Amino acid sequence: MDHTNPEAMCAICALHGDEERLSKDLIWRGDRWLLRHHPRPAPLVGWCVLDSIRHLGGPLDFNNEEAASWGGMVQRASQLVKTLSGCDRVYAIAFGEGARHLHLHLIPRHGSDQRTTAWSVADLYRHVESDQQPPACSGEVSAFVEAARRAVADSWL
Ligand SMILES: [Zn+2]
Repeated sequence: MDHTNPEAMCAICALHGDEERLSKDLIWRGDRWLLRHHPRPAPLVGWCVLDSIRHLGGPLDFNNEEAASWGGMVQRASQLVKTLSGCDRVYAIAFGEGARHLHLHLIPRHGSDQRTTAWSVADLYRHVESDQQPPACSGEVSAFVEAARRAVADSWL
């Protein structure tokens, strides 16, 4: 591994280059953005992640083309999550800390599920990560991914 090259050390870049690992959760890949379901074990069915294709830390690093297309992309991806999960709202959260490569979490917020209220969703995330709460059913995640692929196949370029 080349430790002088941030892209060589980046988990998101590595994932984008690993077709086998990515294929399970990949929903759509374009020139600038990539939409995937959260890797399994996933905290919730429909918890998606929108990545930049280019290795960049966040909106501060956008070029003009990325800045121009980001808003529409976030809106389309959020609408997809809402439509397919049946949630009431969609949270959009990006820390860019675990990997210094923009990956926007798009989180289905169901009004009836108190685990998904504001920062409680961070507790849910940690509890699933540490096996204190069960993850979303993998079969349901697969069904979501397949439905999402069908939904975007004709309409997203
Ligand atoms: Zn990267």
